[in-house]
Amino acid sequence: MYDPLRDKNPGCNAPYPASYWAELGQDRASCPALQQNCTADVVVIGAGYTGLNAARVLAERFSQQVVVLEAHQPGWGCSGRNAGFVLKGTGRLGAVQLTERFGLETAQACYREYRQAFEQVATLCQQGAIDCQAQSPGYYKLAHQPRFLPLFEQQQQLLNQYFGEQLQYLSQAELQQAHLADQQACGALLDPDCFGLNPLQLALGYSRLAEQAGATIYGGSPVLGWQTLQGLHRLQTPEGSVTAKKVLIATNGYTPKDFHPLLNGRILPVQSSIIVTRPLTAAERNACGFRDQPIVMDTRALKYYYRLLPDGRLLFGGRGAIQGRDADKPRYQQALLAAMCRSFPALNGIGIDHQWSGWVAVSLDDMPHLYQAPKDSCYAGVSYAAGYCGSGLSFSALAGQRLAEQAMGQSIPNLPCYQRPLPAFPFAPWRRLGQWLYYQWGRWQDQRP
Ligand SMILES: Cc1cc2nc3c(=O)[nH]c(=O)nc-3n(C[C@H](O)[C@H](O)[C@H](O)COP(=O)(O)OP(=O)(O)OC[C@H]3O[C@@H](n4cnc5c(N)ncnc54)[C@H](O)[C@@H]3O)c2cc1C
Repeated sequence: MYDPLRDKNPGCNAPYPASYWAELGQDRASCPALQQNCTADVVVIGAGYTGLNAARVLAERFSQQVVVLEAHQPGWGCSGRNAGFVLKGTGRLGAVQLTERFGLETAQACYREYRQAFEQVATLCQQGAIDCQAQSPGYYKLAHQPRFLPLFEQQQQLLNQYFGEQLQYLSQAELQQAHLADQQACGALLDPDCFGLNPLQLALGYSRLAEQAGATIYGGSPVLGWQTLQGLHRLQTPEGSVTAKKVLIATNGYTPKDFHPLLNGRILPVQSSIIVTRPLTAAERNACGFRDQPIVMDTRALKYYYRLLPDGRLLFGGRGAIQGRDADKPRYQQALLAAMCRSFPALNGIGIDHQWSGWVAVSLDDMPHLYQAPKDSCYAGVSYAAGYCGSGLSFSALAGQRLAEQAMGQSIPNLPCYQRPLPAFPFAPWRRLGQWLYYQWGRWQDQRP
């Protein structure tokens, strides 16, 4: 598997991963490769949620001539292979941590931005602009140890009082009797709004909207070379090139090694892996206590997440291998299966029909950053959005919009995630070692009562 910390070349036009989403048999994108030398007002690199939304806004609102260069096909990266949780947040900082770090007023402003992103996706689904099989809402954050319950009460109070939320606190008995019979959960916080959807359909829908707005998307067109001369950027692909004054980098967790000085050493690509069972029988659903179509995540340092899919299968995800070359080793799938069965013993021995992994972009300070190089620097005209830490489905669409607005000289909200570049990882060449140490600590931490 392509490993962004090792490989300088992201590959070219690889098939979509063998995910549940890709195998549902829906339409696939087949954008042609760039086969000429051309110019554009703006080039967007990467056709995931971020890049596609930036391209649409640039074409639609600012009448720019936009070219999108994608190594494979739209949605091939994280955007077409994630778990499909539409959440009101991004990064790893919740409202409590944002408040502790930046104070209440700034935390509220960040949260408004995250909420706006969530509502944009929810509205798209409700209005049917993109048919992505949105399920009925209900997001459960599970406490895997009783020591998280006081924190849940604090979160509920803060979010309901100061952030306009209506979270519900559920004791273990309430959770198991009326919502979900997860044997590992000691209680939960329920957000009644967040929901699950088909992430690949969403990406393909964004791709269609960007093209309808006038953007040109090239698939099978990895950027392999980059020259800057007198304020013009010339991006080289295997069979062509594009020259433009402005370049938006939207490659996120799939950014190749040494791709651009603005991003080098600032992202830790971390594998998240998913398994999908065969459809559960009515008896199994009953035993697991599934009543609706919940989306669920726990409080572990090495988190597990799961959801019931429209056809009754259980999608279960968590940490994957550290190195790309180990992605398909059976032990990672077995570890997820074992964790799933600890939560739902009734599923012991169930068959797994799908399994895949993807790279999420972790930032050093646990939050995303959108950054534009200064006008007087040698990178003038280049900007990026990255570092959503595995929670970017909703935020990436707004990040794409903000990237476009910023590139066109418009002011964007004055928030911490829009003010500074991604911080550089200290000892960047040793990021994998740091990740391995974190996993050892996380395993110990997650078992601590
Ligand atoms: C297993 C998994 C589960 C997840 N679950 C959730 C979830 O439930 N909810 C949630 O909010 N978030 C989730 N995420 C995270 C979410 O998917 C991402 O935050 C989001 O999709 C990022 O979108 P993006 O457009 O920024 O990047 P991507 O979708 O990764 O797009 C980057 C694109 O850049 C392309 N590219 C890279 N290098 C080059 C190059 N040199 N030239 C041209 N193209 C290039 C890649 O091919 C790729 O298509 C999950 C991620 C994973 C891996």
